[in-house]
Amino acid sequence: MSYAIPFAGPPTVGIRGSDLRFPVRRIYTIGRNYAAHAAETGLGGAGGSKPGISLKPADSVIPGGSALPYPPGTAQLEPEVEMVAAIGNGGADIPREAALDHVFGYAVGFDMIRRDIMHACIADQHSWDLCKSFDGASPIGDLAPAGDIGHPASGAITLAINGAERQRGDLSELIWPVAEIVARLSALSRLEPGDLIFTGTPKGPGKVERGDRLEGAIEGIGSLAIAIA
Ligand code: MN
Repeated sequence: MSYAIPFAGPPTVGIRGSDLRFPVRRIYTIGRNYAAHAAETGLGGAGGSKPGISLKPADSVIPGGSALPYPPGTAQLEPEVEMVAAIGNGGADIPREAALDHVFGYAVGFDMIRRDIMHACIADQHSWDLCKSFDGASPIGDLAPAGDIGHPASGAITLAINGAERQRGDLSELIWPVAEIVARLSALSRLEPGDLIFTGTPKGPGKVERGDRLEGAIEGIGSLAIAIA
């Protein structure tokens, strides 16, 4: 096939222990999925609103080891460390009991957010797409195949900035665990191979600056390090 304009193909993510690449189709992000973080947002949770769902552009993926250029239009860039689930088998109306069979593997991701834009969009009752949609907004480490590591239901999830711990939680705290997310998303829109799901962040995200080093880790899954340029 020939294209009328330059076409790079889909962005891809590495797979631990393999030369194969994982092509990315869509990126879903789940918000306020840890009660302690939901409470600190002041937007709900802990008896208030349910976790939310938003999307990021697939071409915002960058690999570990990258230098992320500080994005334009913001003075409050914040990373959220999250477990990422990668869909290997698609489906619609997937029952919760079968949902994990659709997950290819897991990785550490940073859901990078222009927090000041998010707050302005909420105040103006506008879509907040632009807070999560910029070049490099979705750093992600290599996928650890579920065939190797299983489906982690517990384990520490942490983020350090310049060596100092910023965030800490545990996968067991997820309000909607991965099976529940897959069931809910697939009831709203068919999931397809290549879809990535950022599953939410524990409490404590804060702003970063140019020159900062970000190191995320999830017990049993792996790690992710980038710098802000
Ligand atoms: Mn997030």
